[in-house]
Amino acid sequence: MSAKKYTVLMIPEGSHQVRRFAVRRWWLGVASVLGMALLFGAALLVYDYARIRIDHSELKRLRTENHLRLAELRQLTERLEGLRQELIVLAQNDAKVRVMAKLTRPKADALTGLGGPLEEDPAEEFSEVQRRIDEIMRAIDLHRASQEEVHGLLSDERSLLGSKPRGWPTRGLVTSGFGMRRSPFSGRPVMHEGIDIAARTGTPIYATAGGIVSRAETVAGYGKIVIIDHGYGFQTYYAHNSKIHVKVGQRVKRGEKIAAVGNTGRSTGPHVHYEVRRNKVPLNPKKYI
Ligand SMILES: [Zn+2]
Repeated sequence: MSAKKYTVLMIPEGSHQVRRFAVRRWWLGVASVLGMALLFGAALLVYDYARIRIDHSELKRLRTENHLRLAELRQLTERLEGLRQELIVLAQNDAKVRVMAKLTRPKADALTGLGGPLEEDPAEEFSEVQRRIDEIMRAIDLHRASQEEVHGLLSDERSLLGSKPRGWPTRGLVTSGFGMRRSPFSGRPVMHEGIDIAARTGTPIYATAGGIVSRAETVAGYGKIVIIDHGYGFQTYYAHNSKIHVKVGQRVKRGEKIAAVGNTGRSTGPHVHYEVRRNKVPLNPKKYI
């Protein structure tokens, strides 16, 4: 195969004429290289075409998906807007409650300047949704703190209300009021630090507020006495009893029976000497009935 030229014979079918070509060796080389390149190019084209077809269907799928996601995002935004509206109503109610409770307004209202149409750019739309969620979370935190404050105040008020003496300790007749009076024993003017309610011996005496019994014993002058601590500095005294039904340290409720009317101590007849004190200072019990 070292010849420089080759002869190619072509014999057409059914003919006796033979055609012959002289072909140079390097031509054959060039032709085979060209053929190879052509084949390779064709293969590349087919491959590219297939890839474009695949990419195209992928693109279609992605477009549909993107539309779906966008629709979902818009729905989410609408729901967020609904949530925000509800929060605004809650904030208004909260403000009313705070006014009623005489509390200061919350320092800032995170819900102002929120909302409006969404951006066209989906990326911005997404960050906008994120921002709104953050803002709603902040508003919720703010209102939670406010609610806790109101709740604390209300429960304080309730326990203060429960601590304030209210009503009569027993049924009877007020025979002596609060204030300066002539002593029934010495005849000299003395301070009467409570009121006297006359009733038959054995008539039940009730606590006028919830609290803890701090004294239940016999004391000179007062006789058999019960003292109840109610908290917030309030104390009530029930003196001259015939019987005591409670013990020191016992927790009692408003209206609970604690003693019976008697005539013990410095007393001129069966009655309850009833005192209301706040921070040890005697107050007019009539103001707490
Ligand atoms: Zn008295």
